[in-house]
Amino acid sequence: MPVFNGIPIPAEGKPVRVEDGRPIVPDNPIIPFIEGDGTGPDIWRASQRVFDAAIAKAYKGERRIVWYEIFAGEKAHKKFGEWLPKGTLDAIHHFIIAIKGPLTTPVGGGIRSLNVTLRQVLDLYACVRPVRYFPGVPAPVRNPEKLDVVIFRENTEDVYAGIEFQEGSDRANKLIQFLSDFGYEVNPDSGIGIKPISITGTRNLVRRALRYAIERNRKVVTLVHKGNIMKYTEGAFRDWGYQLAKEEFREQIVTEEEVNKEHGGRRPEGKILVNDRIADAMFQQVLLRPDEYSILATPNLNGDYISDACAAQVGGLGMAPGANIGDNAAVFEATHGTAPKYADLDVINPSSVILSGVMMFEYMGWDDAAKLIIDGIVRTIDQKRVTYDLERLMVGASKVKTSEFGDAIIENMKS
Ligand code: NAP
Repeated sequence: MPVFNGIPIPAEGKPVRVEDGRPIVPDNPIIPFIEGDGTGPDIWRASQRVFDAAIAKAYKGERRIVWYEIFAGEKAHKKFGEWLPKGTLDAIHHFIIAIKGPLTTPVGGGIRSLNVTLRQVLDLYACVRPVRYFPGVPAPVRNPEKLDVVIFRENTEDVYAGIEFQEGSDRANKLIQFLSDFGYEVNPDSGIGIKPISITGTRNLVRRALRYAIERNRKVVTLVHKGNIMKYTEGAFRDWGYQLAKEEFREQIVTEEEVNKEHGGRRPEGKILVNDRIADAMFQQVLLRPDEYSILATPNLNGDYISDACAAQVGGLGMAPGANIGDNAAVFEATHGTAPKYADLDVINPSSVILSGVMMFEYMGWDDAAKLIIDGIVRTIDQKRVTYDLERLMVGASKVKTSEFGDAIIENMKS
């Protein structure tokens, strides 16, 4: 048996396996967790109790998660002198599915963001962000419930690939000269960033979005791009996306062009509509016609912006969950930071990690446990028993602690 970070693996659990990019989950999977920095421990304590309670209720002892702590961030640095020990990466690689709280990004010293490193080292090429409304949460639009989308953002390429050169550096100057040889005049005092978008990256992402749509009975997959301006990167993303959809999912999908030409403008029953929208128009569409969209598949930069814009639209930036998924590993995580000023006060909203757990259960095929948690959260918010961040925005709400919010969710799980 391998050992990670010197910590023995619990004997009572089994690892998840992966076949054809899909997890094969035993009834007693070992799931590594990183509790996170700052408010992470408060959030994790409440979340783990909610997860275990939902599983116990849904499966009456036939299933359970065997939790296994792994380390990153400040706790790892204190314990091992490293921010992201190799044992942690190896453990995620070995156990396939992991969940994490927020991590402090070490400042200075040339240390890269731990989250970015995790994504790149484990090739977690899809960032998945579901955005839905929870009744009672204050939102800035009139009908927040009309937005129910899952954003699939490519996670490893685009201008976020980390290929950037500082203004005035040798490499920037060389590139500017190189471009000048090609006939492009770039201001000599420019910093330079490179935007790679590949067939491989695009196909992996769009395949995952389409599989999700099929498995979760979603009706529309929209490719979001700036192909009108950036033809060979964003425009190619659109073209390769359609190509993949037609090659690998021909029986299940219909394109918008086919709907208009061959089906009188109506999506045939049982088919998933694949369409595309230019990114700036998409920002208008989610506000003006939110219920026409369901899955958004998009390159990295567009995806970053549209994820937060959608989450804000339903009032839930502090509640938005996320996952980073690749063919051989998946890490579910809070999308907010460590909120260090609230550390150890038991006041922070744990919903982002709890909802990441819901995504994790759905990914594992443990839908009954996922549903119990969603029901618990909906009822708890409906009863206006909420943490400070929501309480200050709601009329007549009672403020509860992180741990009490967890208790209320558990109490409100009805099978
Ligand atoms: P932050 O930790 O997200 O906190 C900013 C503010 O957002 C908080 O002061 C709080 O607002 C609100 N907030 C965040 N999480 C909340 C929650 N669970 N419940 C209620 N309110 C919440 O952002 P930051 O201060 O910019 O970053 C702090 C550290 O986190 C940095 O080291 C950063 O690099 C890291 N970070 C990590 C991740 C990650 O691991 N995924 C993501 C982002 C940032 P109020 O003060 O108004 O209550």
